[in-house]
Amino acid sequence: MNVYDAERMVDVLSPIGYLATNTVEDADLVILNTCHIREKASEKVYSELGRLRVLQEKNQKNGRSLMIAVAGCVAQAEGEEIISRAPFVDMVFGPQAYHKLPEMIAHVSRKVGKPLETEFDTQLKFDQLPKQQGAQGSQAFLTIQEGCDKFCTFCVVPYTRGAEFSRPMPDVMQEAKHLVAAGVAEITLLGQNVNAYHGAEKGEAAIGLGRLIAELETIDGLERIRYTTSYPAEVDDQLIEAHRDVKALMPFLHLPVQSGSDTILKAMNRRHNAAEYRDLVKRLRDARPDLALSSDFIVGFPGETNADFDATMNLIKDVKYTQAYSFKYSPRPGTPAALMPMQVDEAVKSERLAQLQDLINNQQKAFNESCVGTNMPVLLDRVGRHEGQLVGRSPYMQAVHVVADAQWMGKIVNVDITNAHANSLSGTLSVDKNKNGSDERVCA
Ligand code: SAH
Repeated sequence: MNVYDAERMVDVLSPIGYLATNTVEDADLVILNTCHIREKASEKVYSELGRLRVLQEKNQKNGRSLMIAVAGCVAQAEGEEIISRAPFVDMVFGPQAYHKLPEMIAHVSRKVGKPLETEFDTQLKFDQLPKQQGAQGSQAFLTIQEGCDKFCTFCVVPYTRGAEFSRPMPDVMQEAKHLVAAGVAEITLLGQNVNAYHGAEKGEAAIGLGRLIAELETIDGLERIRYTTSYPAEVDDQLIEAHRDVKALMPFLHLPVQSGSDTILKAMNRRHNAAEYRDLVKRLRDARPDLALSSDFIVGFPGETNADFDATMNLIKDVKYTQAYSFKYSPRPGTPAALMPMQVDEAVKSERLAQLQDLINNQQKAFNESCVGTNMPVLLDRVGRHEGQLVGRSPYMQAVHVVADAQWMGKIVNVDITNAHANSLSGTLSVDKNKNGSDERVCA
């Protein structure tokens, strides 16, 4: 979502004459778009600011100015503190205020104060943003939902991104059509809790994500739909049906479970236990048998015992995730878990994380190897490191490297998979198969 947000900031700034630069030395304005989810991420902000200050002073000596802004969730959570710790920062604004950038820049230029914007008006932001212009290439993100009302005891999102908000379906459809007209073939719908989507049309009952996906499928030229990130307890029958019925909905789902232990899930306030999650996975796979799953895991949540950790490892083996993100529990200020007794030792956290990542890596490798010999549609969306090579995504989110002429860039091609690597696949273009007319055999 921060990638999407950053692109939208570029959109807001282009009418007033700003262009994105590739080197910070060329910039007149630097915006740090920050993340507050774990301690490490938010600490980086201050060290980055230290470096920018040096550049700002150097520019000033040469008669040039450098405006420095801090945006995103660290700005939301620590607004005042940033200004007092780093007084050379010119403006601080949270995730719901970037449509006000031109106004804030005007204020700084006229030296009428230091904008600090931490409002939570999500609808106003979307109403005031210009159309998405950044659509270059065949893949795009589209935010349909923001915020969270779930209050997992480890998580800052409800405090930094605010309450759950869904964009109205007509707005989403319009943005999607605009992207497809600009050449986008794959859209990833975004939300902190994307499947809690309930974007009604005016005067109508709420519309769930399953219905929105079915609606999006009707857009000519939109070949692939994905969504992230989902909350397991919010997966409803309509969404499962979409996995069964909507061909454009890719067979890959990021469905964070966090832990396999019921005690820990309860302490996390997750609203699903391990059995319910397993059952949900079964229903999804009944609907879409080749569905590949990914997850987020937290190890070392307060009170996590060896037995709790084993339960997580067992769940990973049972579900056979094909990839995952995993983190050591990181106490976040203002969240209930930060104050819980029985915080886990750092060394134990590190040991568990290593074990868990080892297991996931082995599963990922096995999954990739099972794809060798299959033929799959790949959306080529970037150039590879080697001469003449293009890279794209498989339906299951694997990176696929293939030797292909530049004319195939942005297109969905069929690839015979010949090799599996730890994090990717490689193969050869198969010319004799129709688009999307892949072999019967799928990765296991
Ligand atoms: N649903 C959101 C979640 C963002 S946070 C989204 O993807 O946009 C991503 C992941 O960070 C969470 O699923 C969780 O596994 C991890 N996380 C959140 N808070 C954490 C904390 N305090 N310590 C460690 N990991 C955390």
